[in-house]
Amino acid sequence: MMEFGIQKGRHTTSVKLPALIKQAVTIIKTELSQSATSTRALVTVAETLYTQYKRADQRLVEYPNFKSPKGYMSAHYPPELYQLGVDTLEVGGVDGKIKIILHRPLPDGVVKKFILSKTPTGEHYVSFTLKLKRERSSGDREVGLDMGIIDFAIDSDGERYPNPKLLLKVQNRIEHLNKHLSRKVVNSKSWRRLKEKIQKFKRKVINRRKDFLHQLSARLVDSCRVIGVERLDIKKMLGDERYRFSISDAGWGEFKRQLTYKSIESNDTKLVFANQFFASTHICSCCKVKRKEKLPTSIRSWTCEYCGTHHDRDINAALNLKRVALEAVEKWKSRSNTRVIFL
Ligand SMILES: [Zn+2]
Repeated sequence: MMEFGIQKGRHTTSVKLPALIKQAVTIIKTELSQSATSTRALVTVAETLYTQYKRADQRLVEYPNFKSPKGYMSAHYPPELYQLGVDTLEVGGVDGKIKIILHRPLPDGVVKKFILSKTPTGEHYVSFTLKLKRERSSGDREVGLDMGIIDFAIDSDGERYPNPKLLLKVQNRIEHLNKHLSRKVVNSKSWRRLKEKIQKFKRKVINRRKDFLHQLSARLVDSCRVIGVERLDIKKMLGDERYRFSISDAGWGEFKRQLTYKSIESNDTKLVFANQFFASTHICSCCKVKRKEKLPTSIRSWTCEYCGTHHDRDINAALNLKRVALEAVEKWKSRSNTRVIFL
């Protein structure tokens, strides 16, 4: 058994990194009698653990928990410990080649570390952390983006990005399987097998959703100079029963995270988050006068009573977001390095 001799709470302050590494090295040498390369991997674990405890002592993070081997597990390795083939991976300290499926070639950059992980469903992944050499190119479009439920998003040029509604499609199937599961004896062999099947289903949905979001966010950041989006209070909206399912299915939070980091990586794409109280839906994008009455969600188009313009609800909102984004970029143009602006 490998033990680091660390306890939770106040005892941790006495733990010093060198002692920890020494202990880790001794353990691996005596108990596993492995080569020097795997010692290096264990040292990385010790270092990570030490950093975590130090940060917890400074009250920056929670103290680490003991992890169940059934849950998500991961190990971080330094970059010198891997050899990547076309469909194989060699890891220092591990005998033989591991067969892998490479989703895409590693981008141009320097590998900082790599992580081997195992999901609760027993799938294994390897992921690489890279410092990228190349920045994303930026196009010259300027768009506002209204997030929806029927369509995932609508831009100010009128283009609609349909919502794949991935979870909804398999929701019935998952519910069906869950019903079966509830009839089985908890922790029996067939219960576990079915549970695994359901989790695999869910993981598939998550992966496909991420893929959809990555493609869309990359396409937007690469083609735009300015992107204006709403700063929705997603946590608050998730509390609303009517929206919870659609929003968590659509992955808005993840989409904004991707837009943000891709804009930061970009040459010159500015991402502007409008204030969450900005009434993008209720202001006329032509005369800028705000409607007196609130527009119910079911009304998809309306006519401005001041200037008479007929609006598509979503495109009007997107146009308003574009306008405030352009104004913000103009206002902050002296800060050319800023990529993300919060209003
Ligand atoms: Zn108007």
